[in-house]
Parts: sequence; structure tokens; C-alpha cells
Amino acid sequence: MSERLSGHTLLISLMATPIRHSLSPKMHNEAFAKLGLDYAYLAFEVGNEELADAVQGIRALGIRGSNVSMPNKQAIIPYLDEISPAAELVGAVNTVVNKDGKGHLIGHITDGTGAVRALAEEGVDIKGQIITLAGAGGAGTAIAVQLGLDGAKEVRIFNPKDAAYTNAEKTVEKLNSRTHTKATVTDLADDEAFKKSIAESSIYIDATAVGMKPLENLSLIVDPEVIRPDLVVFDVVYSPAETKLLKFAKEHGAKKVINGLGMMLYQGAEAFKLFTGEEMPVEHIKDLLFNGGK
Ligand code: NAD
Repeated sequence: MSERLSGHTLLISLMATPIRHSLSPKMHNEAFAKLGLDYAYLAFEVGNEELADAVQGIRALGIRGSNVSMPNKQAIIPYLDEISPAAELVGAVNTVVNKDGKGHLIGHITDGTGAVRALAEEGVDIKGQIITLAGAGGAGTAIAVQLGLDGAKEVRIFNPKDAAYTNAEKTVEKLNSRTHTKATVTDLADDEAFKKSIAESSIYIDATAVGMKPLENLSLIVDPEVIRPDLVVFDVVYSPAETKLLKFAKEHGAKKVINGLGMMLYQGAEAFKLFTGEEMPVEHIKDLLFNGGK
């Protein structure tokens, strides 16, 4: 590392709390090293209270870009100069670009593009498809918006009647008025509607917290009849790599089951491209992060 860093090295930051567990510094620094790019990526423990000063710090120090995670993804928007159409629709930002270090900050969201690219890498094209999407929190909203922007025929959101449901109603309104996708939201408690929707869909996406700790022993699909060989089942959870849902879908004959590792990788790759203009060497990074390669 010390051989790489110099007086010319450009800094990319990550602002969130808690953040020390994040894989992003490893992902980006390895990609910079692999491509010989003179950048470094560092994580900073930043909450809402420090956010205004931290964003001013990006401008003052000429930091070239930043990733943003909880609790700052929505709170950062008022401090930025511009946001992308997708970030505006989602109402959240996970990537900030300070073009040429001149202090004009543009916010983007790459969670949705990352998810759609993860599907594409598995040979799944979402264009023209009917998709059932469980979950309308941060991940679900970013995915719903990107499905709309990328031309899904229908996005049918299911969520329990909690705060995320209200958020889903807003997302549905935006998708219906600003994209060609037909969007709906239904209470997840309506089991018949949920099953009927999946039966009419080619892709089922679970973007809920179900499947990861402390809900690792749960799956929203428990009826084997819901699973078909041609139903693509995508769970955005990446730890565990095989959720109860994915195991169940595989056991009952779904040919394509996809976990959240690809979404995590490609949201990073999309941010990397925005920061540097270069493609992240994803095969190298995938091997390093997921297979323990050197
Ligand atoms: P969030 O808190 O914003 O949203 C949680 C969602 O789960 C809401 O829609 C909520 O209604 C739903 N939910 C919670 N408990 C439920 C239950 N018992 N039954 C049904 N639905 C329930 O969280 P988020 O940031 O959107 O994260 C959601 C999931 O996505 C998490 O498992 C997280 O690990 C995963 N995620 C993955 C990636 C990736 O890159 N692969 C990125 C972000 C989030």
C-alpha cells in the first residue's frame, strides 16, 4: 500500500455508522491496485450529526467521491448540488461524485443498478417482465425504481403494513406517473394475492429483512406449489449466502436461484465506475471477496 500512495493520490471516502465491518474499502482498494489507479478508499464513522461538516469536508479537501450508507442515505440529499433521476425517485443516495474535485457534488444510487446488473450477469433480463417484489425498505425501493427505469412490464410490491408500506405507496405513484411500468402495492398478509402474483411473474425478488439474522429461519414462501422450474428466485440477502428461501426454492425445482452477493458486488462496481470512469475488475474482486482468493 505505501508504494501506491503519494502526494497525488486521490481519496474516495465512505461515510456511515456503524461502518467498520464494511467490505467496500477492501473491494475498492483492491480494484485500484489491480488497475494501477492512484486512488485510496477510506471509511469514516459519520452519523447524521456530523454529516453537514463531513460533506463540506469533501468539498474542502477535494475528496473525489464518497459512498454513503446508513444513516446518511436520505439525510445527505439536502447538502448535495444535484442528484441523478434514479436517486431522486428513490429518495436516497449511496454514491457521491465530486467531479474533477471542484466541489460540485452529484448524488447517485447504485443499489438498483447493482441488482439489475446482478440479474443480467445470471442471464436474467428484466425488460418486459412481470416481477413480484417483496420488501419496500431501502433495498426494495432502489430495486423497484430501477426495474421501472429499465423497462419491467409490471412491478408488484408486497409488504407488511408497516412504515415501508407507506413508502411503497409513494414509490408506486412515482413509477406509475414517471415510467412505463405498471406498479402496485399489496399487503403481504394477503396470501392469496401474493401467490397469484408470483404465479403470474417470471421473477420473484425478496428484498425484505427476512432470511438474515435475526430472521434467518424464516422464508416468505413456504408452499412448494409457488415454486416453478422457470421462476427466477432472487434474495437480496448475502449473509447467509443461502437463505431459507433459496434453499427451499432450489429443493422444489427452481432452476435459477440468486443470492445478494452479486448485487453487493455490482453496486460497488457501478460506484467505482462513477468515481474513476473505469470498469471494476469484477472477476478479480469476486474471487477475493467471496472465494478468499489472493
Ligand atoms: P429496511 O429496514 O430499509 O427494509 C426492511 C424491509 O423488510 C421492509 O420492507 C420491511 O417491511 C421488511 N420486513 C421486515 N421484517 C419483515 C417480516 N418479518 N416479514 C416481511 N417483511 C419484513 O432494510 P434494507 O436496507 O432495505 O435491507 C433489506 C434487506 O436487503 C436486508 O436483508 C439486507 O441485508 C439486504 N440488502 C442487501 C444488499 C445487497 O447489496 N445485496 C444491499 C442492501 C440491503
